[in-house]
Amino acid sequence: MRSRDGIRTVVISLAVLLVAALVQLGIYWLSGSVALLADLIHNVGDALTAVPLGVAFATASLRGERWAGLVIVAVIFASALVAGIEAIDRLISPQHPTHLLALAVAGVIGVVGNEIAAQVRLRGGRRIGSAALIADGKHARVDGVASGGVIASALCVAVGIPTADPLIGLAITAVLIKVTWDSWKVISADTASGAPPATRGGAA
Ligand SMILES: [Zn+2]
Repeated sequence: MRSRDGIRTVVISLAVLLVAALVQLGIYWLSGSVALLADLIHNVGDALTAVPLGVAFATASLRGERWAGLVIVAVIFASALVAGIEAIDRLISPQHPTHLLALAVAGVIGVVGNEIAAQVRLRGGRRIGSAALIADGKHARVDGVASGGVIASALCVAVGIPTADPLIGLAITAVLIKVTWDSWKVISADTASGAPPATRGGAA
């Protein structure tokens, strides 16, 4: 019962974040905003960090969970580097993001998606008493603020400060790298100690 409820919670929050990220991807193609690119990578990364938790609930396999966790941390780190390089490139050779209304909408979608994911995880986590899920829920709530950065970027570009876009992109990338580092610490500690996954904190 507990594991089925846990899997359901993980899958629902994963689906919400993936849909939000897909819509953001479409708007990124339109607008070319690196702040949005960084937020989008962050949301995909967060959705992916739910995978090892789902694997843990589904199979109770610590080995499978650790491998999934390590691969995901590596993928998020590589993506953070891509976002960071892109942002620095835009600082050197500025490029105005376009479709600002769509860009602002992409930010709103990120805020709303993260808030829904947060509520689903917090409620599910309290229901089954999972510290990992509750930590993930609190994390998603904080991420709504990062998505708010995309709205801020659209506003700044609209009033004539296009440099704000790569700067906000860099700030979101910094958060992403910190998140990768935290996940790495959690996963490598798990690998060393063999602590059961349900006792760990949330990832990314
Ligand atoms: Zn996050």
